[in-house]
Amino acid sequence: MVVRMLLGIRRFRLESGPKGTGSSMTTRSTPHSTEQKTRQFSFLGGDPSIDFVNTVDEMLGDSPIDQLESYGDLLDWSEQASLICTDIIASLQEAAQECERDSERVLRQARLFRSHLRDVLTSFVEDRPPEARDLKAITAYARKAAAHSRLDCCGDGFAWVLDEASGCELDWPIWELARAAVALLTSDSLNRLRRCANETCGWLFIDQSRNHSRRWCDMSSCGNRAKARRNYARQTAKRKTKQG
Ligand SMILES: [Zn+2]
Repeated sequence: MVVRMLLGIRRFRLESGPKGTGSSMTTRSTPHSTEQKTRQFSFLGGDPSIDFVNTVDEMLGDSPIDQLESYGDLLDWSEQASLICTDIIASLQEAAQECERDSERVLRQARLFRSHLRDVLTSFVEDRPPEARDLKAITAYARKAAAHSRLDCCGDGFAWVLDEASGCELDWPIWELARAAVALLTSDSLNRLRRCANETCGWLFIDQSRNHSRRWCDMSSCGNRAKARRNYARQTAKRKTKQG
């Protein structure tokens, strides 16, 4: 969790472009990708599966922006989310280099999984039943994850973990995400699931504030933008009143 907080840099969101009218998802070619620097993702959702859903900027705007441009981005995100340990990340990087086509396929599947999960979480926030096809898809991913899991010792007890024997399987990040998603969807934390009050943002988060009053994914971006809009509207109204 500390790692997530430290890495919670909102680089991509602050760079969000103008809102267009199309509905298709775009990916961003930033100077960062050409510089070969590791992207820094935001972790404000309070749960890895929510943070994964939040890898799309301006989710409800006319031009959503996908932060995951490559399988490498998926691995970077998984590492920064502390979802996958460094050793497995290294073996996945190696496997991805050996088979680029497979890594592209897995990236597409990861995006698809994200979309199913987003729809389920959104239906919960909007207090409507989820689509059966979304639940079915998440179940399918979770079943695959379970097929690659084993019981292991953990502290004084046990844990149901992914088997390292499958550590070079490119699907590993999706399996971890499916496990995290099922854990979230079947937990009490879901009752605190909220959506950012910025109408185009769409980012989700678990409201862990003491009085359950968190409105924004991030006050420093969405919150401040809304504040600036309110001030502008107030000043404009004042000017009109004076002129009138
Ligand atoms: Zn927001």
